[in-house]
Amino acid sequence: MSRNVELFARASRSIPGGVNSPVRAFRSVGGTPRFVARALGPYFWDADDKRYIDYIGSWGPAILGHAHPEVVRAVQEAAVHGLSYGAPTEAEIIIAEMLIERMPSIEQVRLVSSGTEATMTAIRLARGATGRNKIIKFEGCYHGHADSLLVKAGSGLLTFGNPTSAGVPPEFVAHTIVLDYNDIEGVRAAFAEHGKEIACIIVEPVAGNMNLIKPIPGFLEVLRSECTAHGALLIFDEVMTGFRVGPQGVQGLTGIKPDITTLAKVIGGGMPIGAFGGSKEVMANIAPLGGVYQAGTLSGNPVAVAAGITTLKLLAAPGFYEDLSARTRKLVDGLVAAAHKHGIAFSGDCVGGMFGVYFSNTVPTTLAEVSASNIDMFKVFFHAMLDEGVYFAPSAYEAGFVSATHDDSVIAATIEAADRVFAKLAKG
Ligand SMILES: *Cc1c(COP(=O)(O)O)cnc(C)c1O
Repeated sequence: MSRNVELFARASRSIPGGVNSPVRAFRSVGGTPRFVARALGPYFWDADDKRYIDYIGSWGPAILGHAHPEVVRAVQEAAVHGLSYGAPTEAEIIIAEMLIERMPSIEQVRLVSSGTEATMTAIRLARGATGRNKIIKFEGCYHGHADSLLVKAGSGLLTFGNPTSAGVPPEFVAHTIVLDYNDIEGVRAAFAEHGKEIACIIVEPVAGNMNLIKPIPGFLEVLRSECTAHGALLIFDEVMTGFRVGPQGVQGLTGIKPDITTLAKVIGGGMPIGAFGGSKEVMANIAPLGGVYQAGTLSGNPVAVAAGITTLKLLAAPGFYEDLSARTRKLVDGLVAAAHKHGIAFSGDCVGGMFGVYFSNTVPTTLAEVSASNIDMFKVFFHAMLDEGVYFAPSAYEAGFVSATHDDSVIAATIEAADRVFAKLAKG
C-alpha cells in the first residue's frame, strides 16, 4: 500500500482533515494528498519516493527552485546566531531597504509573519488613515483569512457580502462591498453610491486565486482614479504577484501605484514572512507612530529575513525575469499546442513565472468563466498528470508556478506527459 495513504489516514486522526491548510487535502479533485519527503530544484519526492515535477513551488515562494543552496546556507548561518530575539536587527533594515528600492510605491515597510497578517493590517491601516469603514473587494480574489475578507458577493449588484466561512458574524462583513473582478462599471457605481464611506479597495492586481486572471485594460486604471477622486486608498495585494510576475510586481509592469502594497510568499524564499508598505505619510498611522495597532512576536524573524534577503539578491541577477517568463511561456504554449493536437478545448496564459491553464476555448477574464470551464476534465487531467509524475495545483481555481530550475528538459518532459494524457482524454 502507498505510504501516502497510510500517512493520510494517520494525519486525519491528529490533524483536522489531515492537513494544515485546506487545499492540500485534494478535496476538489479527490484522491490522496502526496506527503512530501524532500524537494530539490523543480522536483519533490513523496512518501513512496516517487518524484514529481512541482508546479506549485509552495504556492509561489520556491521561485529559485526548492532548497536553493545559497538560501539554505543563509538560513543555516542565521540559525546559529539564534532563532528569534524580539528586538530589532540590522538584517530587518536591509530587507526593508531592498523592498523599498524595488517596489515603486513603497517608502516604508513593516514586516509580519504571513500574507494574512499583511492584508488584515493593510485593511486596518486604510480604515485608520481615512477614518472610513467600508472596503471593496472582488469575488474570487483571496486576501488571506481575516474575517472581513472572507466574503462573497451578495445577490444582486452593489450588495454587501455574505460571509464565506462559518464563524464570521454577518456584522463583521457588513462593511465589505463585493464586486466582480474586471467589472469597471461596478466599481464606478459603488463609488457613486458610497464614495464618501469607502476606506479602500483591495485587489490582486493579477488574480491568482481563481486560477490566473489578468486585469482587463482599464480595470486597474479605474481603481486608481476612483480611489484618488474619492479619497480612498488603493491596496495592491501582491502577496502572490510580488517578485513573481516581474522584478517590481504588477505595479512595476503597469506603472500604476497603489497606496498600500502587501507582500509575502517570494519575499521569504520559503520561510514564514509577510510585509505591508506604502508612503511615509500612510505608514505614519501605524503604532508606535500612529494610532493603528499592529505587532508580532516573530515579526522580522532573523532566519526568515536571512532567507528573504538571499532570495531577493538572487532575483536581481540580470535577465532573471526574462528567462523565467520565457520558460513559463514555453510551458503554457506547449500545453496548449498538445491539447489542441488532440482536439481538446484548452487555453493558457501567463505573467512572469505564474501561469493558468483552463479547459475552455478562451482565456477567462472572470470567476464565472473559470467556473464555466470543463472542471470535470481538469480533475481527470490532474490525476493523470500526477501518475505521470507532474504535480499541478489540485484545483481548477489555482494558478501554477514555474521556478528558475524548470529548465528546457523539465518543461519538455512536462509537455510530453501532457501529450500522453490529452491523447487519453480525447478518447474519453
Ligand atoms: C497566499 C495569499 C494570501 C495569504 O497569505 P498567507 O501567507 O497564506 O497568509 C493573501 N493574498 C494573496 C493574494 C495570496 O495569494
